[in-house]
Amino acid sequence: MHSFIDHIPHIIAPELLAQARVFIDTHSKFVITAHFSPDGDAIGSVLGMKQYLEAKGKEAKVVLNDAPGNNLSFIPGFRSDVIIFDNQNDGTPSQRDEAIRTIQQSDAMICLDFNTASRMGSMKDLWMSHTAPKLLIDHHLAPELEQFDICISHPELAATCELVYRLILELGDDHLLNKQIATSLFCGLMTDTGWFIFNSNRPDFHLIMARLMMEDVDRENIIKESHVVPERKLRLEGYLINQKLHVIREHKAAYISLSQSEGRRYGHQKGDSEGYVNAPLDIEGVQVSAFFREEKNFVKVSLRSKGEYPVNLIAEKFYNGGGHRNAAGGEFFGSLSQAEAIFVKVLPLFDKYLQ
Ligand code: 5GP
Ligand code: MN
Repeated sequence: MHSFIDHIPHIIAPELLAQARVFIDTHSKFVITAHFSPDGDAIGSVLGMKQYLEAKGKEAKVVLNDAPGNNLSFIPGFRSDVIIFDNQNDGTPSQRDEAIRTIQQSDAMICLDFNTASRMGSMKDLWMSHTAPKLLIDHHLAPELEQFDICISHPELAATCELVYRLILELGDDHLLNKQIATSLFCGLMTDTGWFIFNSNRPDFHLIMARLMMEDVDRENIIKESHVVPERKLRLEGYLINQKLHVIREHKAAYISLSQSEGRRYGHQKGDSEGYVNAPLDIEGVQVSAFFREEKNFVKVSLRSKGEYPVNLIAEKFYNGGGHRNAAGGEFFGSLSQAEAIFVKVLPLFDKYLQ
């Protein structure tokens, strides 16, 4: 119908595409998940996949380890269309039993936007011990191939949502696209590219965007809504930038840290600190930034960089994490000051990547 989509090159290996086709055709009760602390690409891809499978007449449910933050409330169904395995801190009734039942009753499992089973958090053992076949669709480096039955992994792509659309297209199901699917996928493309700043130079990325827009995605409104923040978030951001920003000129680096007591003072809630790691990168001459947030049992680390600077290596080696070259993160099991000290100490080792 839309002939311009013929210009989107097909990239999924034919044997994997054939396996994915059989996987979808021969099963009827799908359960879909994404990584813990789900971001926009995680939520967008699980909802887009669910809606696509439903358009094919399948039963499809989404189970997530933990609830998305309210900063993602611009994604339709971000909370209502997902079942949360561990919502202890969410203030809502427990959905654990429903999550367990849904996983155990499924006959096929789909994993989106993560590359290692450990990224499922506390749900990992329950998920991995269910014997139904598992399909992984992801854009992180080095997936754990042995953990999944079919692995469709494309680290060169901007977002898992891009890969979900490509799978739909390459399976010959582009005609099933509707406003709901397109809106979900659009949200993930938007957030994982930092509102179309990163990884979005490829022409076919924009052909996919154009295809989603054909389904009446309300781009303008979604972008506006996604920028609405609670007052406390802006006040905390002001405090952090004014009082907690450290710039290390020598290594073109900057970092910010947030303790639990500071979080309490500003009424910090899950999702509020999303994006704080990006602010220091706006400083002239800064090429790498870190954000450390103290939690009960660990420090959540977020890293961002420009150019060739591989923050995924820092996340892997020092913070039990991983990610992409320019956006990575992890968890550090120690104090906030130790997490900061390690960052400062490893910077000289990475000077060779500075431009
Ligand atoms: P963020 O800083 O937004 O939490 O994460 C940025 C990217 O880093 C994510 O898209 C993900 O690829 C990676 N990442 C964040 N936290 C972790 C973690 O705990 N483990 C691993 N392996 N990757 C992470
Ligand atoms: Mn992603």
